[in-house]
Amino acid sequence: MSSIYTGPVFEMARNQFSHVADYLEIPHSQRDRLLYPKRAIAISCPINLDNGETAVFQGYRVQHHLTLGPTKGGTRFAPSVDVGEVAALAIWMSWKCALAGLPYGGAKGGVTVDVHSLSKRELESLSRRYMQEMIPFVGPYIDVMAPDMGTNEQVMAWFMDTYSMYQGRTVNEIVTGKPVSSGGTEGRREATGLGVAHLVGRALEKIGLEPAKATAIIQGFGNVGSYAALELARQGVTLIGVSDHTACYYDPKGLDVDALLKHAEKHGSLRGFSTEAAFDPNEILSQPCDVLIPAAIERVIDEKVAPKLRCRILAEAANGPTTPEADEILDQRRDEIFVIPDILCNSGGVIVSYFEWVQDLQQLFWRRAEVINRLKDLLDDAFGRVMARVEKDKVSHRMAAMAIGVDKVAKAKATRGLFP
Ligand code: GLU
Repeated sequence: MSSIYTGPVFEMARNQFSHVADYLEIPHSQRDRLLYPKRAIAISCPINLDNGETAVFQGYRVQHHLTLGPTKGGTRFAPSVDVGEVAALAIWMSWKCALAGLPYGGAKGGVTVDVHSLSKRELESLSRRYMQEMIPFVGPYIDVMAPDMGTNEQVMAWFMDTYSMYQGRTVNEIVTGKPVSSGGTEGRREATGLGVAHLVGRALEKIGLEPAKATAIIQGFGNVGSYAALELARQGVTLIGVSDHTACYYDPKGLDVDALLKHAEKHGSLRGFSTEAAFDPNEILSQPCDVLIPAAIERVIDEKVAPKLRCRILAEAANGPTTPEADEILDQRRDEIFVIPDILCNSGGVIVSYFEWVQDLQQLFWRRAEVINRLKDLLDDAFGRVMARVEKDKVSHRMAAMAIGVDKVAKAKATRGLFP
């Protein structure tokens, strides 16, 4: 089938799906229905720049399937955004939500923009215009947005405010990842990173390594990487390498996580943190460590990097960090490297988003401990189901996780049938 969805990231999502569909023996006639998104919305967002000019930014929202409930997923503001990337990310959200047992299909949105080039006022204009253009296509029971790369709690507050002003009432449940002061939930900000660290803890147990004896390297120090570092440090894990888009540091004796967090908070990035520990960002993924956490962008572990990995656990905090070609290599290295696949590893974010949506709909808010306990409970459940499938069918961790997600959506589609 030909479609508007092209590019390497979409090809990756399609390739993964086709492997899983073969393993699940899904009839070929059902495959396009499962893979191709239900809807894609493309918009032009004009905004007035501070210099008096008008700029137009391209925005997208892809809603993958509506079989299990509303669609759910983040909104990415990044230069790489195109409809193929957004579609792939929406598809991964579907398998992620289904694996976690959430009543959602996947969605993703984005604007092709370098947020660092915008002033705060310009970012607010763009955020509001993006949401305003999306109003006919989203809703608390249709499609619920959240943060992703380049967006944050403040952007979610602007989204919620824009939607609410058009409705004439406050509609907290239209987006998740909001500030706690504006209908957000306790625990959402740290949820993804905390979930990553929790699952790393489970994987360390499996390979029989004590956290206090383990070392970690994290690529990416945004919301996910920074909270993962903090939580791992709390568990006693030593962070020996870290990088973001501005800098890279490596010290086999250990880096000071609190100091890194303070520096990133103050300066907006890791640039200028240290001169002694400065390291080549192209080499950081292949340094020896126990836990390697790609927490930045897609496709950083390809067929060239995969043979060089010297970690025991690969915790995929980013979406799609490993290409299918690299996956084949990791499959051969199954006994050496324990992979926590992305749709499991970073699912803490959308799980707590689900809790936020439920609380907003009920107008009944939970304490932080309740949010975190329920998060760990769902993560443990998904982790257990993935491990059981690996045992039973002797498949890779990714195949097991994806199969559980895809199978759930396939069965729901089959039982609901085709309308009309
Ligand atoms: N953008 C995040 C993800 O990729 C979170 C999505 C959400 O909370 O809905 O999973």
